[in-house]
Amino acid sequence: MPKTLYWLQCGGCGGDTMSALSAETPDLVETLGHLDLEVLWHPSISVGGHLEHRRLIESIVNGKQRLDILCVEGAVIRGPGGTGMYDKFAGEPKKNLLARLARQAQFVVAMGTCASFGGIGADSEVEATGVQFHRAEKGGFLGTTFVSQGGTPVINLPGCPCHTEVIVGALTALATGEALELTGQQTPVEWYGLLIHQGCVRNEYHEYRVEESDFGKKGCLFFHLGCHGPLAHGPCNKFLWGRRSSKTRVGVPCFGCTRPDFPQPHPFFYTRNIADIPLELPEGVDRAHYLAYKGMAAAAAPKRLQKRETRV
Ligand code: SF4
Ligand code: SF4
Repeated sequence: MPKTLYWLQCGGCGGDTMSALSAETPDLVETLGHLDLEVLWHPSISVGGHLEHRRLIESIVNGKQRLDILCVEGAVIRGPGGTGMYDKFAGEPKKNLLARLARQAQFVVAMGTCASFGGIGADSEVEATGVQFHRAEKGGFLGTTFVSQGGTPVINLPGCPCHTEVIVGALTALATGEALELTGQQTPVEWYGLLIHQGCVRNEYHEYRVEESDFGKKGCLFFHLGCHGPLAHGPCNKFLWGRRSSKTRVGVPCFGCTRPDFPQPHPFFYTRNIADIPLELPEGVDRAHYLAYKGMAAAAAPKRLQKRETRV
């Protein structure tokens, strides 16, 4: 019997859908076919009418239609005043629909940073929150104790948007019964157990603190241009976007879109610092030792790096 998927779009831009549709070799349709995964509903690719959609929802909620994977894209909108009426379906706040569907689902997946942590609308007048987290704090809309019918908490797949390979990989794992080990933020270790920094082709420049203060050059982007590579978890330099490239490969600093605090309230392409020392250092490093090491590393930087002769 095919497994089933329902995709609920809440308060978001649809970017995760665009990311899913960008899958290549195999593309999304081929992937769903290989996995024998039946899409009960997706707002961009389903062709059924409104009444048919409402009947489907009722049959899921009544337990007549099995629901294996509930994907939630976009933040849960609770405004105004906790009513959720800023984001409705058929006169009902989507947050209520989400609660009803989540009770029936074998797995609930939060697609993207807004669904995972609240994202751009968190702490704003739309009262956005994540499906089971609000920023870095567990709870969110469904609460700390929620587990799906399959016995797992909400699986968070952050990213703005979520990486194509992560969407396809997670759906593949869930459809084939492969267990996903989760981090403390309920993100799969497979894709979020590493930093964006790992695999960046500018790493040798970072080691020797050969840094840039302007775009279009070859050095590291951490010390002046706000790169969050050593602070953000995700596979962007392991699984390239479109299987071709990544932000840091083309010279754009990572702005940490997988982090619970994304989007940060300060400029993206600027490293906040005191006396030229970054406020946020790479995850887990000891400040005093790191700065001493970086001072020595800069003095020892090979000439080929100082001259930017290494290709990136
Ligand atoms: S550009 Fe960013 S990801 Fe690349 S080495 Fe520098 S800090 Fe790391
Ligand atoms: S490189 Fe950074 S900002 Fe870009 S998609 Fe990856 S985690 Fe997000």
